Amino acid sequence: MVGQYEELSCPFCDKGRISALYIPSAFTVKRVRSGKGTANMPRKSSEVWLIKSGCNVCGESSEEVEKELKRKNLI
Ligand SMILES: [Zn+2]
Repeated sequence: MVGQYEELSCPFCDKGRISALYIPSAFTVKRVRSGKGTANMPRKSSEVWLIKSGCNVCGESSEEVEKELKRKNLI
């Protein structure tokens, strides 16, 4: 899979390091086509972040970390 590994701070305790795989929009397979011609999708929505680990400091799972990062608009 194409992408790059990034380390994010834990959104809960800010001390843990979360490993995530970041896939820029250029590498995503799905292309959105709208009926109105070329859609200018905001870049953020077409990027993909795959959270690979939970937090080893506060113990939050990868699912919870991902939800919180999305809620805070960080990914
Ligand atoms: Zn944490």
